[in-house]
Amino acid sequence: MSALPRVTVWNEGRHEKSHAEVARVYPKGIHGTIAEGLASHGLTVRTATLDEPEHGLTQDVLAQTDVLFWWGHMAHGEVRDEIVERVYERVMEGGMGLIVLHSGHFSKIFKKLMGTGCNLKWREIGEKERLWVVNPGHPIVAGIGEYLELEHEEMYGEHFDIPAPDELVFVSWFQGGEVFRSGCCYYRGRGKVFYFRPGHETYPTYYQPDVIKVLYNAALWAAPVGGPEVKRGHFPQPMEKF
Ligand code: ZN
Repeated sequence: MSALPRVTVWNEGRHEKSHAEVARVYPKGIHGTIAEGLASHGLTVRTATLDEPEHGLTQDVLAQTDVLFWWGHMAHGEVRDEIVERVYERVMEGGMGLIVLHSGHFSKIFKKLMGTGCNLKWREIGEKERLWVVNPGHPIVAGIGEYLELEHEEMYGEHFDIPAPDELVFVSWFQGGEVFRSGCCYYRGRGKVFYFRPGHETYPTYYQPDVIKVLYNAALWAAPVGGPEVKRGHFPQPMEKF
């Protein structure tokens, strides 16, 4: 694909409604802030939230989405299974990219694509996080320094119950001593998945320019490549003459 990917930023959008401190940090919603950041890099971005009909992820919206961002936390269980299946099919068969953010590690769609429990260790005391680039040739770290530093974040620590990433891009160090695989790439069917750890709802992480730059790079990396249609099933006719 030569054109820039069409992006949809999906957010559960509940913390912003129920927690005043989150509404203060993200008055336009986490989705609004991420969308603005990506748009500032020239991407065409739409947003969708849990409480819209079909969670804002209609067949039409998904058909026009090359890369879907996913932020969720307190309402993973409210995401309808048929919508999860729809997103899954769009990744596996349609080649859509999926960028799963922070507490999205426990979303139905991420667990389905990983096939593991996706649990981890966590602590919320606002400690410092340093995300070290461990794959400096990877397109997701274009224009990024040796590391990203976040003054205050929630801690996620190993062990993170995921399959070994196909490509590991970041490893986080936390002030409290834990480490975490915080930037993980996967190939699934015709599509790609990137998990990016930072983004707890009470910290202004998604205003930080180098964080947005990573998300922008990830959108370019995860965009469909226009590869072959997948064919499976019974093929009774051999391709060569016998
Ligand atoms: Zn969190």
